[in-house]
Amino acid sequence: MPDSVMMNRSGMVSKIHTRIRTDTFKSSYDLVGKELGRGKFAVVKKCVEKSTGKEYAAKFLRKRRKGQDCRVDIINEIAVLESAEANPFVVSLHEVYETTSEIILVLECAAGGEIFNQCVADNDEAFTEKDVIRLARQILTGVAGLHRNNVVHLDLKPQNILLTSSRPLGDIRIVDFGLSRCVDSVEEVREILGTPEYVAPEVLNYEPISTATDMWSIGVLIYVMLTGASPFLGEEKQETFLNISQVNVDYSQDVFDGVSSLAVDFIKSLLLKNPRKRATAEECLKHPWLNGHSSPLPHLRNPLRSSLDEPETSPSESEPESPAPS
Ligand code: ADP
Ligand code: MG
Repeated sequence: MPDSVMMNRSGMVSKIHTRIRTDTFKSSYDLVGKELGRGKFAVVKKCVEKSTGKEYAAKFLRKRRKGQDCRVDIINEIAVLESAEANPFVVSLHEVYETTSEIILVLECAAGGEIFNQCVADNDEAFTEKDVIRLARQILTGVAGLHRNNVVHLDLKPQNILLTSSRPLGDIRIVDFGLSRCVDSVEEVREILGTPEYVAPEVLNYEPISTATDMWSIGVLIYVMLTGASPFLGEEKQETFLNISQVNVDYSQDVFDGVSSLAVDFIKSLLLKNPRKRATAEECLKHPWLNGHSSPLPHLRNPLRSSLDEPETSPSESEPESPAPS
């Protein structure tokens, strides 16, 4: 099975309000620094608007992909960004440019980068459970807003959840609406595949897609943020798909060492095979894990530290002070 395919285009939005500029992007913006990131069909670069000196992220999208005209997909991405304009946790769209080969989205720059980096990091760099609780609330508030507008993201994963700053840890910005769909149409949305590790069982079975499809991905996302481990990832793609369709998840103490049982309970309410049984974003926001009902939270994956706000001490610092020489 391919990584990511779109076999039908139901649920796409084709009306946009943003004026598409056809003058030269480079006459209004300077590209600065290195690339911010890249995906399969896009490169994202930091830029500065000459007239204001403000920093943005320019997403360069190729219109032709594998010999196919994909302009409608890009227009859909723009339309979804427009519909989420008032959503504080969705990246905002500043301007759009079009050339013969590309469309350029000038987006708010999320300078803290992908939460992916802190999901795979060890010790000091990794999120604490307290961090994850705050970020999860923001992700769920953002996704609840999308779902209220009948928009499903369909590609929620750590590479598409960015931070306004990394140290100190800032706020969430949801990006990459390239696979997003509107689910209020009469026509059912099926057969869209996101990223294998994060994809819900109904997507693999070509069953209808709904807002619950995103909720599965959020379950996987929170699992990864808390444990640093990807719950369904197998040696090969087929094994990953089998793990997903069998909902083969490890909730053992081994994996969740130092994580509260409320967090585990929260994840269990999302990683359910039947989409109708999964918690909605609004229900998740009411879960006790996100509402301060847990006991003091230990630091994750850091055996040196045992309680939340304790400063890190090295062994020498914790030894009694030697008497001052007289
Ligand atoms: P793709 O559809 O190709 O995956 P994305 O929109 O996910 O494109 O962008 C690719 C990467 O570029 C992201 O994973 C992220 O690292 C970076 N990126 C995207 N948008 C922004 C932004 N607004 N600010 C900072 N970095 C960004
Ligand atoms: Mg992406």
